[in-house]
Amino acid sequence: MAVLPIRIMGDAGLHSPAAPVDEITDEIRTLVADMFDTMDAAPGVGLAAPQVGVSLRIYTYGYQDDDGGPWRGVIINPELWMRPIEPGAPDPEEESEGCLSFPGERFPLRRSDEVLVTGSDLDGNPVRIEVTGWRARIMQHEYDHLDGILYLDRLDDGEWKTVQKLARKRGWGVTGQSWTPGVDDIDA
Ligand code: ZN
Repeated sequence: MAVLPIRIMGDAGLHSPAAPVDEITDEIRTLVADMFDTMDAAPGVGLAAPQVGVSLRIYTYGYQDDDGGPWRGVIINPELWMRPIEPGAPDPEEESEGCLSFPGERFPLRRSDEVLVTGSDLDGNPVRIEVTGWRARIMQHEYDHLDGILYLDRLDDGEWKTVQKLARKRGWGVTGQSWTPGVDDIDA
């Protein structure tokens, strides 16, 4: 059980594709337990292995709907299919997201409203997740991390300029930066 440092935008490992997991070893099981601890401590609704400096295709997610029960899990070597994204500008109230690798900020981004994710769980059993709405957004966001894509990379030019300005101000945007939930005084 450990809370791991979370890499910040600009860290090389966040911007390159992650490798598939060949075999679920004890090391992987420990990593996933630590990822859950880190995600919960942040707190966040998802965490991908590249965010904690491990370039493997694994992510955890955990989200509680207002009306539903808790929804948590881990997915290894995911594949993602999504319904085409509706054209138009995102609604800043309803369609803004954030990222633990650019903590404390949110930006509007249009996402697909429905996805299907397949992969395996920590026991190697097949997983199939069909979700809509906010859950679909989480899946797309975390899946992107495995391809070295941050949601910031998908913003329009105006928002991207704001991101760069903020990053400069905070000394982010260079490799090797991280923050640790519960240690560094950052509001995710
Ligand atoms: Zn993220």
